[in-house]
Amino acid sequence: MSAHPEPVIRLHNLTLAYDRHPAVHHLSGTLKAGSLTAIAGPNGAGKSTLMKAIVGELKPAEGRIEHRLGRTEIGYLPQAAEINRRFPIDVLDTVLLGDWKASGAFGRVRHAAMERARQALQTVGLDGFEKRPIGSLSAGQFQRVLFARLLLQDARVILLDEPFTAIDARTTRDLLEIVASWHGEGRTVVAVLHDFDQVRSHFPETLLIARELIGWGPTEEVMAPENLMRARAMAERFDENAEVCEPAA
Ligand code: ADP
Ligand code: MG
Repeated sequence: MSAHPEPVIRLHNLTLAYDRHPAVHHLSGTLKAGSLTAIAGPNGAGKSTLMKAIVGELKPAEGRIEHRLGRTEIGYLPQAAEINRRFPIDVLDTVLLGDWKASGAFGRVRHAAMERARQALQTVGLDGFEKRPIGSLSAGQFQRVLFARLLLQDARVILLDEPFTAIDARTTRDLLEIVASWHGEGRTVVAVLHDFDQVRSHFPETLLIARELIGWGPTEEVMAPENLMRARAMAERFDENAEVCEPAA
């Protein structure tokens, strides 16, 4: 996969809201093709909201998101809490969900997809786990399955929402290698992260938000102490932003 010269995703004065209650204000900037970007910011800063808007799950209240990617060209791993693991499905079938063309297919198409799914499981270190129900896996193993599914999807842009939260150190290290290989293949990768050491050592670019943009650019510049202090100070005021929902006293 070759790097694309033009920007993949552009945000224009983007405001995102739930029920008219803004979670992200007036965000503008460019996600460059082939970049590897961390999204950092305090709890409630709008990081997950921004990812949902980029994948099209949330319509902007104001402004717009510009890109020419089809639905299958954006791979998205939601925050862990949003994925139901009680669903009675095995590991191989979960990985196969990553291949949009093969889902529901039979015969040769499905067979080829199954081969690719087995290879993806090997890549994430889960050889032999094909028939295991996903409910029987550890958190780290399940995250490996979801990365295998992304490998199968083969998307140009990959969005990961807190992929390493509550994940053991060894799995995190292995999955960071996969992230690096996606970057090496010219894909555009964005990950919401809480661990600033991880951000600094693995992500060249950072988008720091606290409901509004604090900084977006080279990680060393964006993660400067004064920016982090500003983000923290803004987070302390999040509660005061309840303008729309406040009942009349
Ligand atoms: P982060 O991922 O940075 O922790 P979120 O994007 O999840 O933050 O949330 C940003 C704000 O939007 C928070 O105040 C949160 O309570 C609110 N929010 C998130 N999801 C919803 C929702 N489905 N309905 C209403 N408010 C929401
Ligand atoms: Mg979140």
